[in-house]
Amino acid sequence: MKKSKKKQRDQKRNMVKEEEFIKNFENTIKKTIEKYHLINPGEKVLVACSGGKDSTTTLYLLNKFNYNPEALIIDLEIGDYSRKNLNNIKLFCYDKGIKLHIVSFKEIYGYSMCYIRSILNSKYNLGSCHVCGILKRFLLNKKARELNFDKIATGHNMDDEAQNVFMNFIQGNISFCARLGPMTGQIKDKKFVPRIKPLYFSSENDVRKYSKLMNFPVVYEPCPCSVNTFRSFIGEILSKLEGENPAVKETLVKNLMTIMPALKEHYKTDEKLTYCDACGEPSKNKICNACKLIEKLRQ
Ligand code: AMP
Ligand code: ZN
Repeated sequence: MKKSKKKQRDQKRNMVKEEEFIKNFENTIKKTIEKYHLINPGEKVLVACSGGKDSTTTLYLLNKFNYNPEALIIDLEIGDYSRKNLNNIKLFCYDKGIKLHIVSFKEIYGYSMCYIRSILNSKYNLGSCHVCGILKRFLLNKKARELNFDKIATGHNMDDEAQNVFMNFIQGNISFCARLGPMTGQIKDKKFVPRIKPLYFSSENDVRKYSKLMNFPVVYEPCPCSVNTFRSFIGEILSKLEGENPAVKETLVKNLMTIMPALKEHYKTDEKLTYCDACGEPSKNKICNACKLIEKLRQ
């Protein structure tokens, strides 16, 4: 009898804790959107959905906060992993009444992501995430523009950003840091759709916890192509450092925000956009990175 009362009390305490966590988590994201003016009144937002916990959480919250988002998934056709993600996001959008756009990677590029990555990897030693990232960003921008969206929201979280900062510093690419922040794509251009990161100040652990508490239909395993990459190695180092200093990732991101205005000012002359001679999409060079990759593939 006594035991069951104690159990009930513990359960109640846990529920209160969970409710508090949910409230705080949602508040952080709401505040990020408002403080950095990520979405202006009347703007159309497209959430880039991988089917994973981060982008599903982003989509759920933008919908909950009444920004009326639509979703877009690029079907990368990485075997079972992509199939599960596609089914999950279809289910989620159907359930919430959110419009979902599906783009087939194979239809556009003629090959699955898996094939492209394996060729470029073996012939040119290009990393999977590097190849996938360039082609995904290119497609997202093109599709969002064609569908008349004002912003693209991604599920990038604080851990992703801390990895970016750390990698840029140790690889000597500090100028790349000027392009980071909760809203990227500071160069205004009619062909370029700015990207926003509402989960910018939310840790990966918190997003996972929230997604599990909310019972989102998502796969928690990482993309099979993203294991043993330089980024995953950096992620492990940062997590190890956090064992000794719990706020390492947050400190990296917050310090970046402190020096961001100076970085932007210092590197502003680097930030010029032109249009790719081959495809007409916005690019920093005569030929955009996506066209360069496709050209390598053809060779
Ligand atoms: P990743 O580059 O896999 O770490 O993903 C970063 C963000 O890009 C995700 O949080 C999503 O917002 C977006 N994203 C990743 N994969 C896809 C996909 N297949 N289709 C659309 N958006 C994606
Ligand atoms: Zn191009």
